[in-house]
Amino acid sequence: MRPWDSFQGARIKVLRSFLRGAHLTRQEVARLIRQSLPAAASHIDALMEAGLLELAGQRPSSGGRPADEYQINPPSLAAIGVELHPNHILSVCCGVNGEIWDSVRTDIDASLVRDGGYAEAMIAKAINGLHQKWRRKLVIHGAGIAVPGIVDCENRLLVNAPNLFLKNYSFGGLAQKLSLPLFVDNEANAAAIGEYWTSSVPPSTSMVLISIREGVGAGILLAGQVVRGRSWRAGEFGHMAIRAGVRPCNCGRTGCWEQYVSERALIADLGDDAIARLKDHIEDGDGSVSGIWAQYIESLAIGIENIAACINPDLVVISGSIANLGDRLIQPLQRALAEVSFLTQGIQVSVSKHPDIASALGAGLMTFSGLLPGLGLKRPDMSNINENRMTSTKNEGDSHVG
Ligand SMILES: [Zn+2]
Repeated sequence: MRPWDSFQGARIKVLRSFLRGAHLTRQEVARLIRQSLPAAASHIDALMEAGLLELAGQRPSSGGRPADEYQINPPSLAAIGVELHPNHILSVCCGVNGEIWDSVRTDIDASLVRDGGYAEAMIAKAINGLHQKWRRKLVIHGAGIAVPGIVDCENRLLVNAPNLFLKNYSFGGLAQKLSLPLFVDNEANAAAIGEYWTSSVPPSTSMVLISIREGVGAGILLAGQVVRGRSWRAGEFGHMAIRAGVRPCNCGRTGCWEQYVSERALIADLGDDAIARLKDHIEDGDGSVSGIWAQYIESLAIGIENIAACINPDLVVISGSIANLGDRLIQPLQRALAEVSFLTQGIQVSVSKHPDIASALGAGLMTFSGLLPGLGLKRPDMSNINENRMTSTKNEGDSHVG
């Protein structure tokens, strides 16, 4: 049992206030939960004991003894997130505010992934490796797995992942073996959670994150709630047909969006160094790729228009290696959207803050939503967190966690 499994009502309320960035004294906690000072002190002591709070300093007082002031202990509260790709696993150890303490990329044998047992064993190795390494320095709250496919989150069941050639694979067995609570979700949903959690957009923002990887998926977040649909298929825009009858897809249909805008589609057109070639094209006018790039932008715009027609979100975020192009992607995309469509008017389009690790980070962060039962997905107040600390990737332990 984790230290906070026994937390109920008032203690959750206290923890939630601290997670949102509050600095509180015992007296203030007592007022917050309308309980006695000893009761407030016992909540603070329990949270300190679980490693979730730390002493922030002393509150100056006009008379009498200054009161101790407490704050959340973000470096201590952490999780492990794992993203499964067809040919590699990316695992991160991240803090509750999105700090990346560690990240590991492990190549896996793509021909063996269709055997779910192999994929599970490699994921277990990644989780256990980070857990062993960090368990003495951090309070590891749980582990999350992001998978490119339809995921029944309640039953931790991968329903169908066409690009992994995996169907109806349960991670229930892995959950039994791990010493951490295990969460499983679609990789685009995870990326959307990570982006929302670590960004400064207002909590009421409606956001669609388009994850452009081997395939293409989308995570839909309406005011902090992930839209998963009746049977977990919401956001499967990668299999929305944009040119029916051409380019067969692993899902069995033809003309799916991901056949035009995925990493795989770009690599088929431009080779393994597709992103580097695109950078060259945009910077130096490499004419050999300009036709392909124009077609790519047009296909991306068509899909975004269709999504806008369904959801009319405030914000569309693009993640995946293509998002490393930044404005070199966003500017032509915005021009294409403005030229052909009235549907995307007023919608902000941007690239992810974490183009390459969004799903793994989100897989870790989604484990915290259960810490605040009944609230759905909430993110802590990020206003006092240093931007660089949140987004920097550290390969080894950071001295101020120890
Ligand atoms: Zn398809």
